[in-house]
Parts: sequence; structure tokens; C-alpha cells
Amino acid sequence: MAASVMLSPARWSLPEVGDTVRFLATVRDSNERLIDGARVVWSSSDSGVVRVDSHGLVTAAGRGRAKVFAKSGAVAQSVPVVTAMFNIELLFRDSVPPEHREHQARFVDAANFFMVALAETEVPPIPDVTRIPLGIGSSWCGGTTEARTVHGLLVVVTVEEGRYFAAGGPCIRRDGGLPLVGRMTFSPSAFERDPDADFERLVRHEMAHVLGIGTGRGWNPLSGSPHDTHFPGSLAVAAFDAAGGSGYADGKVPVANDNVHWRASVMGCEVMSAGCGPQGIVSPTSAITLQALADMGFTVDPSMADPYTLPEADADAAAYAFEDDAVLPDRDR
Ligand SMILES: [Zn+2]
Repeated sequence: MAASVMLSPARWSLPEVGDTVRFLATVRDSNERLIDGARVVWSSSDSGVVRVDSHGLVTAAGRGRAKVFAKSGAVAQSVPVVTAMFNIELLFRDSVPPEHREHQARFVDAANFFMVALAETEVPPIPDVTRIPLGIGSSWCGGTTEARTVHGLLVVVTVEEGRYFAAGGPCIRRDGGLPLVGRMTFSPSAFERDPDADFERLVRHEMAHVLGIGTGRGWNPLSGSPHDTHFPGSLAVAAFDAAGGSGYADGKVPVANDNVHWRASVMGCEVMSAGCGPQGIVSPTSAITLQALADMGFTVDPSMADPYTLPEADADAAAYAFEDDAVLPDRDR
């Protein structure tokens, strides 16, 4: 008898009405054993937004947000799906090393995480965008390409042996400051990481830099009293308080001395912390990070954040070396 249903992907954004995605339901019994061929009944919370057929094929029917349900016996699971809302388009300039092909899906997962969380962000499409980063041989954000329309955010991905283990940041901004075009770069050795934990964390981390953490026009940490750099955005501070930081006496939200990450000695292994524990830890993308993006102009659904609470003070956390990560320069459009 079915005891659990797991759906993959865990969330999804369909850019245009008519687009489709296939969901898979994995049904297990109370001993965690896979039930092969278990009967699954699919449904949608709003058929005006998404329709789902009896095989888990989901079609965008209209603009909005909905949930797709899969039910087997008495157990059900749902995943959020957004349609025709804030879009993040990935443009791969270089191929992912073939032996690490499974890592490519983590880029798509990371983009979907942010597309669902930032879905309500309304930005106009910008036609005839040029100066899109080319990658190898160009400066960080240099290069040009055929003019193209950018609907939400275009993220160029390059894979190159270079100065950085991984890096990310915006290249062209919209009026008002939100990113229009950004770039992430990864060294081939970055792909040696476990795709499901370390690598997904790394991609989300760099994508959050593209979105504005450490890089945005609204990223304005205050220095505070000596060595107490902090990001004062009111929504991020409220999320910090809600995560257990209400009694924290120094400046909120605490930022690392590099000025572009959260301070690991307070925040632990949050995805945007400058230092984190040993590899293999899945770092949550907290409501603090999402709300910092809201402070910078995105419209955010903080309920899409990963579960996160502040750790007890961890003196060792600051000592962990994080990857040789860097933030790209940017320019205004
Ligand atoms: Zn970083």
C-alpha cells in the first residue's frame, strides 16, 4: 500500500501558454520500497492555469500559479507550477563536460527555484538586446551577439578553466536596477561535485549573485561599528528575526567582510554564506535571501524558501574555506 508519493521535478515554471512538462511520481510503501506501476491520479488546483493528463503531462493553459497533485491510494503530494510569469532563460555558451552531463539538470532546477519564488515580478520584455556575454576570449561581460529579446532575465553560462572556481553576477541592468543579462562561469573542476547537493548549491549561489545578492544596485550593506557590515533591508531583517535572529544584538542582516555574502559565523550554511561546512551539506536558500531580493525590487513568494533557522553560534563556521568564488563586474543598461 502506498505510504509516500514523491514528485519530480520539485517545482516548475512554464514560460509560455501551451508549453508542457512531464512530471514523474515515485510511490513507495511503508518500508520505503518502490511500488512499481502504482496507480497515480493526477490533478490541478486550477485548470485555467495548468492542465494535467493521466500520465503527468502538464500543459500551461493560462498565466498564473497553481499546484499539480499526484495521489496514490490515500497519500498525495503536490508541487507548485507557475506559467507565463517571471522568466529566467539559460544560455549555455560552452558544453558541460560530457562525463558530468547529469549536472546540467541542476542549472535548470536552480533557474526553476528562482522562477517560482520570484514569479510575481513583473518586468517588460526588452527587444534587441545585444552585448550579451560571449565567454572565453572576451572580458567578463564583454562580447556581442545577434540581437535578441530578453523576457525576464537571461543568464549566460560558460565553462572554462580560469581564475575562478565559480563566479556570477549581472552584466546589464534594467531601468530600476533589476538584472536583465547576467553571467555565471564554472571551472571544469566545479563539476566534480555531487550534482544533487554541492553542485546544486553552487549553481543557486551563483544565480543569486546574478539576481543581486552582493551585486545589485540595491545591495547596500552598512559598515556599522568596526567589522559589523550588515544588509539593512527591512524584509530581509524581518526574515532574519523570524528565523531566530530577533535577539541578535549587532547589525542585521550580518554580511561577511567580503561585502557580498552572508556572514557564516552567524548564518551557518545558508546558500549565500561566505563560508560553510564540509562538502555534502545541502545549504538552504532561506527566506532571508529571498527577502533580500525583495528589498532590491523583486516580488517574492517567501513560502517557496527552503526551511531554515539560524544555527547556534558556531565559531568554527567562519574558519571553513569556501570555494574560490567571485562576483562579476556589471554595468548599467
Ligand atoms: Zn559567492
